[in-house]
Amino acid sequence: MNLMLTNPPAPDIPAYSPAGNECALFETAWTRQLPLLLKGPTGCGKTRFVSHMAAKLGLPLSTVSCHDDLAAADLTGRYLLKGGDTVWVDGPLTRAVRDGGICYLDEVVEARKDVAVVLHPLTDDRRILPLERTGEQLEAPPAFMLVVSYNPGYQNLLKTLKPSTRQRFVAIEFDFLPKDREIEIVSSESGLSAGEVAPLVELARRLRALKGHDLEEGVSTRLLVYCASLIDAGLSLRDAVRSTMIEPLTDEPEVRAALIELSQAVI
Ligand code: ADP
Repeated sequence: MNLMLTNPPAPDIPAYSPAGNECALFETAWTRQLPLLLKGPTGCGKTRFVSHMAAKLGLPLSTVSCHDDLAAADLTGRYLLKGGDTVWVDGPLTRAVRDGGICYLDEVVEARKDVAVVLHPLTDDRRILPLERTGEQLEAPPAFMLVVSYNPGYQNLLKTLKPSTRQRFVAIEFDFLPKDREIEIVSSESGLSAGEVAPLVELARRLRALKGHDLEEGVSTRLLVYCASLIDAGLSLRDAVRSTMIEPLTDEPEVRAALIELSQAVI
């Protein structure tokens, strides 16, 4: 296991500090034309990992943030009226299949059910994308890779990936990095010294321990980076902590008060 942040990547490759062998796994899945599923809490580095790998492998990356209104046609494409003519316009998935590259569907469980129907023939050895509307059946080139992510932590049983979909992917589990590594990342991303970042990470870890009790989700690495950036830009510690590590987590006055108390005890 090596620390990439001590050995900075080329400037055009987004920095990513691996937790284990996920870079090698990604690369092998890519070589073998296998689709990849990234599981883990929000803000723990999944998107950064995909952009890092896409840049490293020199592949175009198309990222789609899925939401509950996102339907298959938003990914495949649709006929649109253009200057009186009806023309077919490829969606991001179709474009990636035609041209090659990575299509990354972030929070795929949020999307409508018909999305799974489109993904199934693309995620087995057929690697095809049938476009009913145009009558085409596109074969994915070797340079196409599908990557999806989801957060299994959300307490919503309806929003989980069906086994029939899940079992089509090579899966990697993500979690927050160990303390020292997270300090290093937050410091490097924000510019704040490791010494100043350390108590913030300690607080985040304590808040994460409340997940499932008073909080639905703990403080993400993303929020820690926000907090450290605000402090680095001159905001007071108290204001930065409150606006990034407390307010985004809860709307309940009692929980908020408890979090403030905890933060004052740690920082
Ligand atoms: P996710 O996609 O899991 O919601 P992101 O990839 O957007 O999370 O991560 C949020 C932020 O946290 C990134 O923009 C980056 O600043 C930081 N980050 C998290 N993990 C890492 C990592 N392993 N290496 C570098 N930066 C990271």
